[in-house]
Amino acid sequence: MSSCRLLQSELKLWTSGRSKWTRGLNEGIGWSGKAFLSTSCCPKVCIVGSGPAGFYTAQHLIKARQDVEVDIYERLPVPFGLVRFGVAPDHPEVKNVINTFTQTAKHSRCSFYGNVNVGKDVTVGELQQAYHAVVLSYGAEANRRVGVPGEDLRGVYSAKDFVGWYNGLPSCRELSPDLSCETAIILGQGNVALDVARILLSPLDTLKKTDITQPALEALAESQVRKVLIVGRRGPMQVACTIKELREMVNLPGTRPEMVAADFEGVPEALKAEAHVQTHSPYTEPSGNCSQVKIASDVEELKTGCRYRELLFCSNAHYVDLLASSLSLDKDVALI
Ligand SMILES: Cc1cc2nc3c(=O)[nH]c(=O)nc-3n(C[C@H](O)[C@H](O)[C@H](O)COP(=O)(O)OP(=O)(O)OC[C@H]3O[C@@H](n4cnc5c(N)ncnc54)[C@H](O)[C@@H]3O)c2cc1C
Repeated sequence: MSSCRLLQSELKLWTSGRSKWTRGLNEGIGWSGKAFLSTSCCPKVCIVGSGPAGFYTAQHLIKARQDVEVDIYERLPVPFGLVRFGVAPDHPEVKNVINTFTQTAKHSRCSFYGNVNVGKDVTVGELQQAYHAVVLSYGAEANRRVGVPGEDLRGVYSAKDFVGWYNGLPSCRELSPDLSCETAIILGQGNVALDVARILLSPLDTLKKTDITQPALEALAESQVRKVLIVGRRGPMQVACTIKELREMVNLPGTRPEMVAADFEGVPEALKAEAHVQTHSPYTEPSGNCSQVKIASDVEELKTGCRYRELLFCSNAHYVDLLASSLSLDKDVALI
């Protein structure tokens, strides 16, 4: 079947109650098909997904060739992927990249089509017939399961969903995390863990100045969470967060970092050794006792309105055991 005929036969896909977007899509697909069939010298490229990967691809294609035309298809009604729905709302500077992406989207040789779920509304095969090239840049979708008993229990949320909830991702709107408990545990010690901890513990006045969703703000205003444990499998040498984010965390208003000297036993030596033989061993087994970083809040009188009580970085307590014992603590623990 020719691509033109195939696309015509599939036009019903674009006419099922989404007139605003489908009109553009019809034109985009139809035009592309014609361009392809009429051996137009103008290359048409289709990009699936409008996150950073998609937009950087579009940007570079447009810059590299004066004749290329780019159509970006996005499943959500709005562009920018995890820059919009992942990056923490109190880090607006990271989202500045949206300005560049917007310039690309406005370019005369770039078109954005939202609300198009590739694989459902249109197949990759159909796109291949309509475009000279198809770029798949649809990001990482699924959650990674920990594989321990209890992870499906109520009160256990994936960071992806929790982040999506406070960032307004439509599919996470109904999450309503239970924040009536005093302790939250976050598994993993990367930047996303710190994002979640910061959102749970930041003063409301700080959050109010961000573009966090109103329902999340209201839920956080009622939150009883006073203690956050950030749990990692291994020691401080393997913590995955960056220094900037860690500094920001320990400087959160109402907190005082408390480093226990014993937790760092062996770490300076290990650092020196690592600098020496950097390439030989990317993975260091945790040693018995050099693995706990404790950052505790000021236990003195807390200022009124300060929601922050305690932040504890736990490493080397085997996270599976911790998860299991946390679950047995019943309702006092929220797991994220
Ligand atoms: C919670 C969180 C916080 C982060 N914070 C930072 C940070 O502060 N700084 C930083 O540099 N990085 C951060 N990152 C990482 C960064 O967001 C990602 O590396 C980046 O967004 C990946 O870009 P991408 O284009 O590959 O995927 P995504 O941003 O995920 O974009 C993929 C797009 O494809 C769309 N899509 C998926 N399937 C389909 C389909 N079938 N049809 C059409 N469209 C589809 C999706 O809706 C999405 O819009 C964070 C990530 C997370 C999860």
